[in-house]
Amino acid sequence: MTNKKMGINTICTHIGEIKDEQFKGAVSPMYLSSSYEFLDVDVKRYPRYFNTPNQEYLSKKIAALERTESALIFSSGMAAISHMFLAFLQKGDHLVVQNTLYGGTVNFIKEEFPKYGIEYTFTNGYKVEDFEAAIQPNTKLIHIETPSNPLLTITDIKAISKLGKAKNILTSIDNTFASPVNQNPIDLGVDMVMHSATKYFGGHSDICAGAVAGSEEIIERIWNVGKNLGGSLSDMTVWMLERSMKTLGLRVKTQTKNAMKMAKWLNKHSQISKVYYPGLKSHPEYKLAKSQMTGFGAMLSFELKDDLDALEFQKQLKLIKSSMSLAGVESTMISPHLTSHALLTQEERDKVGISNQLVRFSVGIEDVKDLKSDIDQAINKISKK
Ligand SMILES: *Cc1c(COP(=O)(O)O)cnc(C)c1O
Repeated sequence: MTNKKMGINTICTHIGEIKDEQFKGAVSPMYLSSSYEFLDVDVKRYPRYFNTPNQEYLSKKIAALERTESALIFSSGMAAISHMFLAFLQKGDHLVVQNTLYGGTVNFIKEEFPKYGIEYTFTNGYKVEDFEAAIQPNTKLIHIETPSNPLLTITDIKAISKLGKAKNILTSIDNTFASPVNQNPIDLGVDMVMHSATKYFGGHSDICAGAVAGSEEIIERIWNVGKNLGGSLSDMTVWMLERSMKTLGLRVKTQTKNAMKMAKWLNKHSQISKVYYPGLKSHPEYKLAKSQMTGFGAMLSFELKDDLDALEFQKQLKLIKSSMSLAGVESTMISPHLTSHALLTQEERDKVGISNQLVRFSVGIEDVKDLKSDIDQAINKISKK
């Protein structure tokens, strides 16, 4: 059976397993050597070369999930992004990048690119025309993020890939929010896909890692930079990531189902003024999301009514934790204006639509009825005051 025909849960469970020839154990052995035979070997293995047995085999699982040839695993999502950018952008090159983007990526571009002499333009919006308008003669890469953080805007992946191909510009996507369970950008023509594996891949809020997937040619180029930058992941964590990824399909499908139920419920809630979720028909890009995603994901945001204190609300939650990060099996919430977008001015936040009433909700695997009653009890407590 080819990987392309294999179901996602089978890929999660089996692709990239290392057979334990010696003891016939059920799971991949963990190879912790940082030193491997040098003479008379085909592959010169070394952890920073991204080719220890655990790194090499887990990469196969990630490549299969993203329906492409190859992948590399990094020590964080930011390591994945920085390696990817620096592999395809050099002095004098230009990056077109979506304006609504993970905060760490924005910082990397603004703080590091000038040091390398790399130019960039943040788009004015997330429509294809906005990207086209930002292209310069020296543009070498277009980077998108969809669904985006925290307002869950949807960028047309196929149209952006087409634009890139027409202008001979590579395209990349941060697929962290959707995960390969809900979105396969390579099938839509994107050249490379990156992930913060700290999020859904890990899924238990106990791993920091990243990954990039693409054709062998693309990954080879990133590898060439990677061996110099040195952002590989320790094999112990690679092994833990493999274990986590066996349940990626199960977790994310459950989380996605829960998110849909929660979004619908919140949308009808008398104390919630707005819900941002691509699975709601009221979402401006609902149809586009439906056409390019296999599921709408498990991230959503909502605004509490003006007379409710969003911070007080989060403090009153008993089950749902407040957390900077996202995508774990446990539900978490956060105020974007205090975290990912804290560095923006109020005016800048108003411009992109991030109000102080906005709460980002990473929906976990808990029973929906318990999540609902937690939210209700917290709202009741703050409404009485
Ligand atoms: C968390 C995150 C990153 C950065 O990943 P780290 O593992 O924290 O380095 C990048 N993109 C998105 C969308 C994220 O949520």
